[in-house]
Amino acid sequence: MLGFECESVCIGCGCSDMRACDEGCYWLAVDREEGIGVCSSCPESMKDWESTPRGLLVRKSLVKRATDQIVDLRSTVDALRVSDLNAFDAMPAKEQRMYLARKEALVEAYRGALVSLEMAKVRLEQV
Ligand SMILES: [Zn+2]
Ligand SMILES: [Zn+2]
Repeated sequence: MLGFECESVCIGCGCSDMRACDEGCYWLAVDREEGIGVCSSCPESMKDWESTPRGLLVRKSLVKRATDQIVDLRSTVDALRVSDLNAFDAMPAKEQRMYLARKEALVEAYRGALVSLEMAKVRLEQV
């Protein structure tokens, strides 16, 4: 599903196997097959975990992940824009090409993330 298979993500805070909470955390509950869980920083999410159908939790978590990804990408694009706008003219042609390629890749990733978000939202509505 959307290429997140190997990683489990917390339904409360969105932390994951790869990116634990700052203070460090472990799984209170985890469903490796579905790729979702509840981490030790989010004990209040255990109620959701126990009372919400697993399929709905997965869909909600997909929307959350896609939204987080978009926020990340947007800030990366913004940072690139601000930091490099003035420097661009002064860059050697080779660097300008690299910059443009990097920007294009980012915009591409951003578009992909928007599509993922739309798909995740559609699936959420199908419950
Ligand atoms: Zn958590
Ligand atoms: Zn956590």
